[in-house]
Amino acid sequence: MFKPHPSVSSAWVLSTSGDIEPPVVGVMGALHGNETGGLKAIERAMQEAEAFSGSLRAGTLILIHGNPRATEQGTRFSDGGCDINRLFGYGFVTDLAKAAWCYEHHRAFELQPLLGQLDALVDLHSASRPTQPFAVCDGTPEGIALARKTGCHVTHGWDGPGMLMDHVSIGSLVARGKPALSIECGQHDEAATAENAYRVMKRFLGAVGVTSHEVVTSDAPTYELFARVVKPTGEFQLNGDFSSFDRLEAGSVLGSGEGVTITVDREAFLLLPTPTAVRGEDIVYLARRR
Ligand SMILES: [Zn+2]
Repeated sequence: MFKPHPSVSSAWVLSTSGDIEPPVVGVMGALHGNETGGLKAIERAMQEAEAFSGSLRAGTLILIHGNPRATEQGTRFSDGGCDINRLFGYGFVTDLAKAAWCYEHHRAFELQPLLGQLDALVDLHSASRPTQPFAVCDGTPEGIALARKTGCHVTHGWDGPGMLMDHVSIGSLVARGKPALSIECGQHDEAATAENAYRVMKRFLGAVGVTSHEVVTSDAPTYELFARVVKPTGEFQLNGDFSSFDRLEAGSVLGSGEGVTITVDREAFLLLPTPTAVRGEDIVYLARRR
């Protein structure tokens, strides 16, 4: 049965022996507090502990509630805090006095040894706009093949220059060549999102071999990021009520405001359009279909 993790709060361990033995596979939910689909998937796994125990083939499964305080507050990050999914490069440990750390710094620091111990990780997220579920993976053939086994659309290129891979939860596993995916399971608060999160979790666990859950092989298209668009001015707005995977033709206006207009110079598929982004935050990512 699931037991509280011996040293990390809001994390639960399931293994055949009761000890943490390799391979150690993590499932993270609600790293962003308002993205509760992944948390519901974890809670459901704990409710179905007997079935999960029965399907365990090897090693250890660790369920992790990423950001409990932000979940309590119903927000992406805690009051006075910051985006924890930009802290996993751990530069703050040497660059920022501990007295100045916010809750998310402390939580990321608490998770560091656990993440370093994992042999595989799936991190379950959701988006502010409607989206097909999609996987974020590294662009290796192994990463793409693993992502396909979740049945989701596949995206990669998040580890390119100026991208975020080094700063997100799965970054340290990707750097060590371990299987790791981040999944956008749908829009926040939609019932289907929690269902998707649960299904994706089981397929991932089956795909990495820790449980006997069934996997699928998706023939969904693969998308490769080529740009990250930071909101350039306070007034800048996207040129439409976009959803992920909407397509813009070459020459289309992506957005404008305060004398700034951004057009795309080639066909682009939009990922995670975020109309609520503030200046300096990512407002959308652009991808090509492969
Ligand atoms: Zn998220």
